[in-house]
Amino acid sequence: AQTLHIVGGGMAGAEAAWQAANAGLDVVIHEMRPDVETFAHRTGHLAEMVCSNSFRSDDSEQNAVGLLHWEMRAAGGLIMEMADAHRLPAGGALAVDRDAFAEAVTTRLTALPNVRVEPGEIDELPGDGHWIIATGPLTSGALAEAIRAETAADQLAFFDAIAPIVYAESIDMTRAWRQSRYDKGETEEERTAYINCPMDRETYEAFIDALLAADKTEFKPGETAGYFDGCLPIEVMAERGRETLRHGPMKPVGLTNPHQPDVKPYAVVQLRRDNALGTLYNIVGFQTKMKYGAQTDVFRMIPGLEDASFARLGGIHRNTFINSPTLLDGEMRLKSRPNIRFAGQITGVEGYVESAAMGLLAGRLATAELTGRSLPPVPATTATGALVTHITGGAEAKTFQPMNVNFGLFPPVDLKGGRRNRPARYKAYTDRAKSDWLGWLAANAQNAA
Ligand code: FAD
Repeated sequence: AQTLHIVGGGMAGAEAAWQAANAGLDVVIHEMRPDVETFAHRTGHLAEMVCSNSFRSDDSEQNAVGLLHWEMRAAGGLIMEMADAHRLPAGGALAVDRDAFAEAVTTRLTALPNVRVEPGEIDELPGDGHWIIATGPLTSGALAEAIRAETAADQLAFFDAIAPIVYAESIDMTRAWRQSRYDKGETEEERTAYINCPMDRETYEAFIDALLAADKTEFKPGETAGYFDGCLPIEVMAERGRETLRHGPMKPVGLTNPHQPDVKPYAVVQLRRDNALGTLYNIVGFQTKMKYGAQTDVFRMIPGLEDASFARLGGIHRNTFINSPTLLDGEMRLKSRPNIRFAGQITGVEGYVESAAMGLLAGRLATAELTGRSLPPVPATTATGALVTHITGGAEAKTFQPMNVNFGLFPPVDLKGGRRNRPARYKAYTDRAKSDWLGWLAANAQNAA
């Protein structure tokens, strides 16, 4: 049998190994723990959960992450099987006994005769053979440097700077308007790529007060190596002076509010289109370490965002990730070295579940390639497909930041009842995804036969 090497036995690496080994490949997992530690991992187990013990919502009809659970279960995923086996009561969420879970993943994988764990750090990019790099947000320094050297310095980040992302349909366009600053842009699409939310003085002052008072999270010990001036949290900018934001990301220049053409706004919050579909907009420059509850309260003070729903909230974390839209092809291969795939959080997805799902896909893609089969592309209508389509092409490369799975990444569904009926719409997304995913799995099985 052919050999697949996987660097990193985390959520993604463990799932990739399981998929490839069950399809008959010999698999070697190169894992640096426990010899080389990270600031977040505590054990030598594969698939250790570094923080929360939750895989989030398990609702596969109304929730995109629950749908990802469903897809991985349907594909015989190890991470989901072991999560189900060590489930703890947690309402609609899938919470697990973390140690029992990680131990079980480790035992099941290493019990396979064609899986071997090779202890030790990989500190350079491998030359020959077939590889998946799944070293996660805390990829060791030496390997990160090697990746940087291969891909150029601005293609690998050590911190994320996530601005909140809003569903376009939830923005009140009777208050906001579309316009790029100074009407810049060659095309109508570019000249309307931004959505603007105006603030008068009173609203601005109240907004600054709320930012200063909001609950914030702290970096964990060992997590921070200092963040750069280019991506300061907005609350830190506000702490530097009440006017800082008005002269920075909220400057009101080059914009005219068509709803009130005679009133010059005191400040303007801009949202920029975040995906090719135009369903998601990020609030420009609003990376933040405010707690999630505080974020929704504060951001809904912005005129036009009173009823905003958020596809994801902001954050800044230690997070090693590559610019996948530039560097990877549609099959998750490094364009400059197609014998190397990337999977997991290092590709710019975020979360245990998303990382495991990208491991599952990379494992299957690698297996197909090594056994000389061709797989149909994973449908973009599935949760797995929507995610991989986003990171390898749908996302804006210039401003690429890690992404959670959410329905904004899916091609829209046509619904007679109107787009307002959210439960019906989400059900339509998940019904379509399940059927398309089963079709794709069947094609996998057929090709293998
Ligand atoms: P990991 O699970 O981190 O696995 C990567 C593996 O690669 C590790 O075992 C590591 O030891 C190994 N490795 C790294 N470099 C090398 C090398 N050079 N050679 C060999 N092995 C190497 N996600 C959530 O869903 N919920 C949370 O609450 C959450 N909290 C987080 C808190 C912190 C502090 C951090 C850093 C991340 C958090 N995440 C959370 C994100 C979470 O880490 C990922 O979603 C998930 O673990 C990523 O899976 P992965 O397989 O890509 O990486």
